[in-house]
Amino acid sequence: MSKGPILVWFRDDLRLSDHPALVAALANDCPVVPVYIFDEDSPHIRKMGGASRWWLHHSLAALDQSLRDKGSALRVFRGAAQTCIAQLVEHYQAQGVTWSRRYGAAGMAIDASIKAWCKDKGIMCESFNGSLLVEPWLVTTQAGQPMKVFTPYWKSARANHNFAQPLPSPQCFPPITLSASPLEISLKELDLLPTKPDWAKGFSDFWHVGEVGAQNRLLDFLSDGLKGYSEDRNRPDRNNVSKLAPYLRFGNISPRQVWHVTINRIEAGECNASERDLTVFQSELGWREFSYHLLFHNPDLAHTNYQSRFDSFPWRQDSTALSAWQNGQTGYPIVDAGMRQLWKTGWMHNRVRMVVASFLIKHLMTDWRDGEKWFWDTLLDADPASNSASWQWVAGSGADAAPYFRIFNPVLQGERFDPQGDYVRHFVPELARLPKDFIHKPWSAPEWMLREAGISLGSNYPAPVIDHKLGRDRALAAFSSINV
Ligand SMILES: Cc1cc2nc3c(=O)[nH]c(=O)nc-3n(C[C@H](O)[C@H](O)[C@H](O)COP(=O)(O)OP(=O)(O)OC[C@H]3O[C@@H](n4cnc5c(N)ncnc54)[C@H](O)[C@@H]3O)c2cc1C
Repeated sequence: MSKGPILVWFRDDLRLSDHPALVAALANDCPVVPVYIFDEDSPHIRKMGGASRWWLHHSLAALDQSLRDKGSALRVFRGAAQTCIAQLVEHYQAQGVTWSRRYGAAGMAIDASIKAWCKDKGIMCESFNGSLLVEPWLVTTQAGQPMKVFTPYWKSARANHNFAQPLPSPQCFPPITLSASPLEISLKELDLLPTKPDWAKGFSDFWHVGEVGAQNRLLDFLSDGLKGYSEDRNRPDRNNVSKLAPYLRFGNISPRQVWHVTINRIEAGECNASERDLTVFQSELGWREFSYHLLFHNPDLAHTNYQSRFDSFPWRQDSTALSAWQNGQTGYPIVDAGMRQLWKTGWMHNRVRMVVASFLIKHLMTDWRDGEKWFWDTLLDADPASNSASWQWVAGSGADAAPYFRIFNPVLQGERFDPQGDYVRHFVPELARLPKDFIHKPWSAPEWMLREAGISLGSNYPAPVIDHKLGRDRALAAFSSINV
């Protein structure tokens, strides 16, 4: 008797290799139907930002192509996941569904109710870890409680868990003839790409989206980025970070692949990074894990202060300042360079993310949630766990957060981490002719120098939106008002 197919429901795992849910479905020796459901209709689902939608479009196109190369294809749907899955099971007469787990509250609630529905109908339903090195609930304090501090969290994760070896990509898919579901739509119909205006048109110059792009990115990074990572990961003017974040966010590559390929390359002598470079890189992957640990235990991380004493923080409502920040027009070159890098490429260097976030929260005293929302919309790697955890970390309201009195001085940060000003010159071209001694503080340059460099402060480049000392003192006073 022929068995019905198994639906493999792709979500944040848009790849074929190291895909336990796919491997498990294929192990049943029956046809599989790869599906993607674009769900903006289920309760409490957070809509993807514009940049993420762009990445999603290209990831789905790449996944479909990889599937076609192996005799299958991706079937795309739109709607509330629970309704879609029920209809697809019915239409395809499916015997089961598999997927990789997700860890946000809305997603987990939907998945739990689909599992219950499957059980009720006698449909096999299995979920797998496809996105993390270690499941969030497996790392606990000795008393079995969630972890609150990164260092013990990571120490325990490493000591008590083996990060599984990645699984190979399936060679081919069993043949299947299916009548098309009336619900199926084309990728184009999802309408994920911006058109008027096409603000993402430059992104393709920077990114090769999809599984192949992810693997190449990792190998490029291992051949000339990881060596020196431990120090130079702080330098936005250098090329020593992996830029893997959007690939990890959408699962074009898994963290297990990143972890093991890195170790294998070093052991094979194909990457001469130091022990310290490796450890620091691994611990950054650990921060991603820790963020998911926090999200799992604090489902409202994007909206609610982890530390409730921040609920009475006297945030300012200043839409002009927020807009200057968003548009890279604050008058602080390192901040403006970061915000423009984000707009132009969909990504921003980590050091600069910390500086711009600190500037928004502390100098401009704008609620961290406004910054989180802007990043959610504009980052290609906008991640439900890492984005909110990082914003709360900078604000001081998060778990294991930066101390409130750490208020980055944007001039000193620029001088330290972009000493020649190359990063600023690249993204803020109106300052390109300013000598390095003034590139991070154009307002201190003599009038004749500004004239020679073609800069007219307040006209073709803004004067600072706020004086550093004034902003710092105002923030410190506000922090003391909530007794931090
Ligand atoms: C305000 C703010 C918002 C952020 N929002 C996001 C976000 O939405 N998505 C996101 O993936 N990261 C976010 N980060 C963390 C970090 O900035 C990015 O992960 C990193 O810059 C991505 O570049 P990369 O891939 O070259 O990182 P690498 O330095 O090459 O690190 C390798 C991988 O480790 C992970 N990682 C590195 N640093 C962190 C970190 N601090 N927290 C969590 N994971 C980390 C990422 O998956 C990254 O791809 C944010 C940081 C700040 C300060």
